[in-house]
Amino acid sequence: MIKDIPNSDEFESAAKAQFDFAWDIVISFLITLDEAGQYADIEEEDEKAFWETARQRVLTSLIIAQQGVELAIKGKIVSISPYILISGNHSEWPKDKDGTGMSFSDFRSIDAQDLIKVHDNVHEENFDDGFSELFEKLRKLRNKAMHTVDTKLSVSAQEVVIILLEVHEYLYPDDSWVSTRREFLNDSPATQLFFDTDHVEGLVAKEFLTVFKLLTSSQVKRFFKIDKRQRLYICPECKYEGEKYEMIEPKYAVLQPNTPESEHLFCFVCGGLHQVSRANCNIDDCPGNVISDEYVCCCTCGESQD
Ligand SMILES: [Zn+2]
Ligand SMILES: [Zn+2]
Repeated sequence: MIKDIPNSDEFESAAKAQFDFAWDIVISFLITLDEAGQYADIEEEDEKAFWETARQRVLTSLIIAQQGVELAIKGKIVSISPYILISGNHSEWPKDKDGTGMSFSDFRSIDAQDLIKVHDNVHEENFDDGFSELFEKLRKLRNKAMHTVDTKLSVSAQEVVIILLEVHEYLYPDDSWVSTRREFLNDSPATQLFFDTDHVEGLVAKEFLTVFKLLTSSQVKRFFKIDKRQRLYICPECKYEGEKYEMIEPKYAVLQPNTPESEHLFCFVCGGLHQVSRANCNIDDCPGNVISDEYVCCCTCGESQD
């Protein structure tokens, strides 16, 4: 008898936990750099030294991301049948020595290089070619990172961020990475000690502000469904949440629809539509005319309108 048979939800949560871990590593470096840059200009040489010191950790985050992708694909295979994951000759199967059954994890699992093929064979819908290519690239990079100590082997934190956004989009097109990341932060080990998640919304705003600044407009369009070249406004809710702990200017909200009379700002981070009034800001040199009804602040300069 085979026992401890995993289900696809378990694989999915494990995969997302790996993505979250990988994200945690790279985003912390990007935020540190972003914050340092706010106080003083960073010399090119210092930034180079920063990334050189971070190199091994960034590579590790890539290895973790790759493990996450493997788990995610396995989860999709398991949704058809877990037994498809078992590979190897029947004569090599483990033996049930004490009659209590064999754990599923004692069986050899199919190799990473065969996962896409197996998935596409058992599922009605194949993986997108773009995903297969990305998976191959990631798998090879991971093998290199695991088996060599080549100091030239390097991947940037920015690349890992984009890889994570991409794989998440391919694997879970109906879920938003922003929401998944928020859930993990709400459930992080630290919150078990402090019994409070007050800081989470502000932290999410800070992370995605950094990512928003980093990505090109076509990447922003692809992953967050907004046009970065449109006029950008401060999200009043993210600003309020962020400022519980520090000053941030989450200028990534857009008018929806994008018209002069529009009365809603859409924010891809808090995921909300915010009601605004089209009135002139009461700060002297501010040309803004988008005022948050709920937070009574100007979404151009951020100042309170009380
Ligand atoms: Zn927001
Ligand atoms: Zn203003």
